[in-house]
Amino acid sequence: MLRRFAPGILLFLVFAPFAQAADDESIERMRRDLTFLASDECEGRGALTQGIHKAADYIAARFEQLGLRPGGEDGTYFQKFRFRTGRSRLGAVNRLVLRGPQGQEIELPVTKQFMPLGMSEEGKVTAPVVFAGYGLNYIDPKEGIHYNDYQGIDAAGKVVIVLRQTPNPGSKTVPFGGQRNQRLGSLTNKLVTADQAKAAAVLFVNDRDKALDTDSLLPFEYTSEEMPPAKPIAAHVRRNVVDMMLQSTVGDTLSSREREIDRTLKPQSSALTGWTATIELAIERTTVEVKNVIGILEGSGPLAKETVVLGAHYDHLGRGERGSLERDEKNRQQFHYGADDNGSGTVAMLELARRFATSKGRNGRRIVFMAFAGEEQGLIGSRHFVNKPTIPLPDVAAMVNLDMVGRVRPEKNTKKDDLQIGGTGSAKEFDKLVDALAKNHDFHLSKDPSGYGPSDHTSFTEKKIPVFFLFTGLHEQYHKPADTVQTINFPGMRKVVHLTGEMLVQLANMPRPTFQDTKPAQPGGQVDVPKIRFMPGNYNSAEERGVLIGGVTKGGPADKAGIKAGD
Ligand SMILES: [Zn+2]
Repeated sequence: MLRRFAPGILLFLVFAPFAQAADDESIERMRRDLTFLASDECEGRGALTQGIHKAADYIAARFEQLGLRPGGEDGTYFQKFRFRTGRSRLGAVNRLVLRGPQGQEIELPVTKQFMPLGMSEEGKVTAPVVFAGYGLNYIDPKEGIHYNDYQGIDAAGKVVIVLRQTPNPGSKTVPFGGQRNQRLGSLTNKLVTADQAKAAAVLFVNDRDKALDTDSLLPFEYTSEEMPPAKPIAAHVRRNVVDMMLQSTVGDTLSSREREIDRTLKPQSSALTGWTATIELAIERTTVEVKNVIGILEGSGPLAKETVVLGAHYDHLGRGERGSLERDEKNRQQFHYGADDNGSGTVAMLELARRFATSKGRNGRRIVFMAFAGEEQGLIGSRHFVNKPTIPLPDVAAMVNLDMVGRVRPEKNTKKDDLQIGGTGSAKEFDKLVDALAKNHDFHLSKDPSGYGPSDHTSFTEKKIPVFFLFTGLHEQYHKPADTVQTINFPGMRKVVHLTGEMLVQLANMPRPTFQDTKPAQPGGQVDVPKIRFMPGNYNSAEERGVLIGGVTKGGPADKAGIKAGD
């Protein structure tokens, strides 16, 4: 304890309010809050539950009790938003009609010869058809890679045929193999890339690797819970359909085009002159309304106009909503209590709200406390906030994200409690700031410079706001009903709260931190594989989630369809 005050009287004054907070009371408060948030009553705080609204009310009531100003809409603490959930279905009319150079007209039967992509937008497009190889645009000057399937063709407003995966997907030695295949070869990346080329629609076709046994179509359910990543509408067609069009125009088969790309690593794109396609997709979506909870603690002094955000997502997986890792079918329908993910971050945020709200004569920037919903479905709540901010975003100097801070454990070598801090490179000043903090706390800190990761801080990084991300590591109970209050290390959480409190004091008072982009230059805005050992939460696509957790959820729709991670 003494070491914290060693640097001198100034630090003592800054941190005195926290030192006085009785640790035992703090632990008891967090235990009480978490016991409620991770109770049957809150139903695992899934998007499809009523329990998530009880949790929201609980958080809002606390904000009010602490005298925080409502930071949501219409003078409330809530910022509502809707998003797509599971239970999408094909609508009444889904059509794909091809018209050839000789005036032939071929209507492909839906679900047999073509399948709407589950995550596609709805819509209707009639346009000429273009073959765009693997649909990649990947440039890496360092490695001398310049590969663009869209070079030399005009894809604007067209229907683009795109192979799945990447050239030589299994190979670890070619530029697109291994990890790059998982990222670049994803349906999401290809839709985004097609969008950048202004394509109106994408027809995916299995590459030779995916079609090895049978040329089966991706089940609609495979991505039907995803948000559309880009504007083009998309469906999946069989290889023989593409073969027919290629042969009748350029006198070539799909296989030979593929082989040529795989061999030369040069694009083989071309217009399929004379062919047009009419694609009409109708998809019935279910949406739910959930809400972010936002409370404002005003600052004072010359920096009072600026803001520091402390955020934590409070949603979880309900009764095994998408993202559950419970393998047992029956258990998967139990409440996923999400005590660590992210009840822990939520109650730590509430505890910090109390400490700051009750500390007298506080100086510096305002602190805005946020509990996000929709995180488990892909950072939807935090994205909604940064796109429709209820406080001026240019005034946000920094954001701190607490996601899974309840499982503090000793690090193997040092035996000190392990704490992972992401975003240390997201502002010029942050690395030093963390090093200084480390001196006051008995933690083994694992730093990750990246401001990106599968949790809500990413949404702020994307808006060029410096971030910190605090995380105590993955565990066996992650995304399972067994993530309960009994597994939480409350004294460890109290330590995280202390450190975060000091971090917030710094962030509220220091000169405005200078944002640094830690994003590696990549096409399609894809998030790189995090350097931190494990990361909680989700990327916003099923494919990347599959990679993250090291495989497709067993027994899930993807598994049943025989789909491998990295599709
Ligand atoms: Zn999670």
